[in-house]
Amino acid sequence: MARYCGPLCKLCRREGDKLFLKGNRCFTDKCAMERRKYPPGEHGQNRGKLSDYGIQLREKQKVRRIYGIMENQFRIYFKKASRMKGITGEVLLQLLERRLDNVVYRMGFAINRREARLLVKHRHFLVNGRIVDIPSYLLKPGDIVEVAEGSKDLPTINESLSIATHRGVPVWLDVDAANFRGKFVRVPTREEIQLPVQEQLIVEFYSK
Ligand code: SF4
Repeated sequence: MARYCGPLCKLCRREGDKLFLKGNRCFTDKCAMERRKYPPGEHGQNRGKLSDYGIQLREKQKVRRIYGIMENQFRIYFKKASRMKGITGEVLLQLLERRLDNVVYRMGFAINRREARLLVKHRHFLVNGRIVDIPSYLLKPGDIVEVAEGSKDLPTINESLSIATHRGVPVWLDVDAANFRGKFVRVPTREEIQLPVQEQLIVEFYSK
C-alpha cells in the first residue's frame, strides 16, 4: 500500500486526537481539532459506537500515523517488540522513538516526522560522524546525531529550530542547537514518551 499523501489534519480528526503531524500550526487555534473535533466525511458526526475490535484498530492506526509507518513495517516492529524483554506495548513505543527520523524531529531539526524523514533521506544528517540516510535507523544510547556541514544553512532546519521551543526537548535527548548536534542519551521510559496512546490495545489487536 502506498504512503498516505492526503490532508494530515484529516488523520487527527479520524483518530479523535491531536497527532501533531504538521508543526507550528498544531499549537495554534487554526488546528482542525480545535474547530472540527469530529471524524471527517459526510457521516462523521453520526458514527455509531465502536466495537472492541474497532477500538483496538483505531489505536494501532493512531500510532502508525503519529510515526508515519506503513502497516507491514509496523507489524515487523510489533514482532520484534514481542521477542524483546519487557512489556511488549512499551517496547514497541521505545523502538519507534529510537528511529532516526523521530529523533531528528524530537531534537527540533524538523517541524514534523514527515519532514524529518525527507531530510534524513536527502543525506542531511550524520550519526557518529557518518552520513545515515535511513529514516528507520535505530539509535543506541550515546549516539551523536548532527546536521551535515553543508546543510547547516538549510532554511527548513533553521526555521524548525527557531520554533522548536513549543515542543521542548525530551529529557532523554541532549541537544546543542547552536552547534546543530544532539546526543541520544538513553532509551525513554513509557512515562517520558508523552503520547495519548493505550499501547495495550495494540498488543490485543495483534494477539488475536
Ligand atoms: Fe493534527 Fe496538527 Fe492538523 Fe491539528 S493542525 S489537526 S494537531 S495535524
